[in-house]
Amino acid sequence: MAEDLPVARLALPVPLQRNFDYLAPGMGPDDVGRLVRVPFGKGEKTAVVLALPVASEVEPSRLKPIVSVMREVPALPRDWLALVEFAARYYHHPLGEALAVALPPGLRRAELLASRERDPWLVATSQANVWLETKPRAPRLIALLDALAGGARRRGELLAAGFSSCHLRDAKSRGLIEEAPADRSADLSSAPTLNAEQQQVIAAIAGEAGKFKGWLLHGITGSGKTEVYLRLIERTLATGQQALLLVPEIGLTPQLEQRVAQRFPRARRIALHSGASDGARCRGFLDALTGEADIVMGTRLAVFSPLPRLGLILVDEEHDASYKQQDGMRYSARDLAVWRAHQRGVPVVLGSATPSLESWQQALNGRYCKLELSERAAAAAPPTIRLIDTRRIKLRDGLSPQLEAALAACLARGEQSLVFLNRRGYAPVLACPACNWVSDCDRCSAHRVLHLAERVLRCHHCGSEAPVPRACPQCGNQDLVGFGRGTQRLEEWISQRFPEARVLRADRDSIRTPAQWIALRQAIENGDADILVGTQMLAKGHDFPRLTLVGVVGADASLFASDYRAPERLFQQLMQVAGRAGRAALPGEVLIQTEFPDHPLFDALRRQDYSGFARDELAQREAAWFPPFGAQAVLRAEADKVDDAIAFLVEARALGDDLSEGLRRFDPVPMRLVRRARLERAQLVIEADQRSVLQNHLAAWLPRLAKLRRTVRWHLDVDPTEI
Ligand code: ADP
Ligand code: ZN
Ligand code: ZN
Repeated sequence: MAEDLPVARLALPVPLQRNFDYLAPGMGPDDVGRLVRVPFGKGEKTAVVLALPVASEVEPSRLKPIVSVMREVPALPRDWLALVEFAARYYHHPLGEALAVALPPGLRRAELLASRERDPWLVATSQANVWLETKPRAPRLIALLDALAGGARRRGELLAAGFSSCHLRDAKSRGLIEEAPADRSADLSSAPTLNAEQQQVIAAIAGEAGKFKGWLLHGITGSGKTEVYLRLIERTLATGQQALLLVPEIGLTPQLEQRVAQRFPRARRIALHSGASDGARCRGFLDALTGEADIVMGTRLAVFSPLPRLGLILVDEEHDASYKQQDGMRYSARDLAVWRAHQRGVPVVLGSATPSLESWQQALNGRYCKLELSERAAAAAPPTIRLIDTRRIKLRDGLSPQLEAALAACLARGEQSLVFLNRRGYAPVLACPACNWVSDCDRCSAHRVLHLAERVLRCHHCGSEAPVPRACPQCGNQDLVGFGRGTQRLEEWISQRFPEARVLRADRDSIRTPAQWIALRQAIENGDADILVGTQMLAKGHDFPRLTLVGVVGADASLFASDYRAPERLFQQLMQVAGRAGRAALPGEVLIQTEFPDHPLFDALRRQDYSGFARDELAQREAAWFPPFGAQAVLRAEADKVDDAIAFLVEARALGDDLSEGLRRFDPVPMRLVRRARLERAQLVIEADQRSVLQNHLAAWLPRLAKLRRTVRWHLDVDPTEI
């Protein structure tokens, strides 16, 4: 009888803000968190059991039964479900779809699970080294030992990497590999002796282990933050707990992965990132879930790892933009990491040389505790930063004679240089180099963007417009500058100017895969390149010991970009890129070309004064009620014609008129990159002084949007990082 059967409440991966009830024969409270298969529409879907039993409002005779329970997957723990539920609620995303983001894609396919049954961790034996010394001719076995040089690996992982079970048997019978015992000890043989600052930092964090605390580790590039992470992981593993280490982009941080592997050669480590195969992600997720993995390292999606023994969360380069997901559920992995640490009562360490202003403000107001590493750990001195005033200089394809001369000198010394191009597609604003006037909006505190074709300045924040002035309204100067012009030909020009130099380009167009990136890094480290020309990606944490000169070109565009976060990103990037220079014995120099040498941002940069920069920038944000002081959300719409997108947003806004108390709701505006994938886009910015006011508004307002026509695709972005 259907009436006697328990009813389960399920989340299904469908774009609806509701859950579904199904009959759950033979199931009980222990099955909360199980994956199940259920009939839905014409087919079947995988769902997650949220609650069981529940009293359904639907008559039992009208409920359908669950088809099967995926018992090969352990039930997802309640704290994990609570994390995903929080994310779904906060980012206003359907729970079933949020679960689909949080679960590895492979988990829905039972055949991947079956292979896990007999999947031991394998390591190289001590015998292996002796054998290698004999210079054997067995390339596959050598390759296998190579693969295990980084520590224990799952058998399935090795099979997926192309080793056959035959090879594994062979290696085992020769005594070269064995099943790994769970060994969490650290190998400190190549670890440096901690300096006083590092000791203080570690003592502070370790002294408050076992409870929630947010730590902001502010340490200049090369100050030994990674060493601090390793020591904290060591302590965490020693108490039998798991450590979660979030990194911006795993393909770009192999050095960090190697250092973790080297320090914990026999520990069970897993790496989770979107580039991994379904099988690898699925295995990694299950290793985390069963508590077998001791160290979980990964990109933003790893924040959704189930970790039954979680003891520590580390977020490296916490300011990095890649922690924010830019499609689907637009979550911030850094913010969720802090929530997660709070939920589980464990410490979270946010590390950066240039923290996000959000985190910095939390440290200033006492919610996080700030720790400093103020000196480079390995002898090298910080680089000197100088500005090249280009106001009265003729540039050749973006390059000043000073920078050209510095490149020539560096080349003559046989050292490496890097020309860093700031080439983000920022919309141009109008500015006056004579008096620093900028085309500010008089209705809100954003800059107005120059639209040359229409001859207007338009605010992308509130939508207001003004004509383009002929001269500076402040000082009358007629040479106003529109920023945002490209420097595409720079590389060509450098190659022509220095025909004897080996010029390498590194940006998203030339480096698309981790393998290409590794090859490029090797070329740089081996000294196979004299001049590197590159964008953002070269700024991230790598040691290039022979690099002594960094030239920065095109920075001004970010100074006055319409996106109020652009100066923060510029400062972060330039500090990072400066950190690349002079890391070994050679001193480094950074030259920045600018038409605004008196700008406070450059002044702070020259002094390498992050806190001074943060103070100025936060004061401006506070005056404008921009985050971190106010809270923001953006509703974006896409349609064939931008007018339709705008019309949608106007209607959408009207549906919230009665709920708008305490909010600033601006006019819908076309987006900077209006056309993308043949669709035209517009956005509506909503702000409140308090996060809770904004959240309440969104919760009441969004369900009403379902009524609007479906020809327009829309999404909501809470705490947007790109406006
Ligand atoms: P960060 O992560 O802050 O950039 P790292 O931890 O990578 O800094 O350290 C920079 C360099 O200094 C590395 O080569 C590291 O091995 C070395 N290092 C770190 N701590 C010490 C120390 N206490 N003594 C000597 N060298 C150190
Ligand atoms: Zn002026
Ligand atoms: Zn405005």
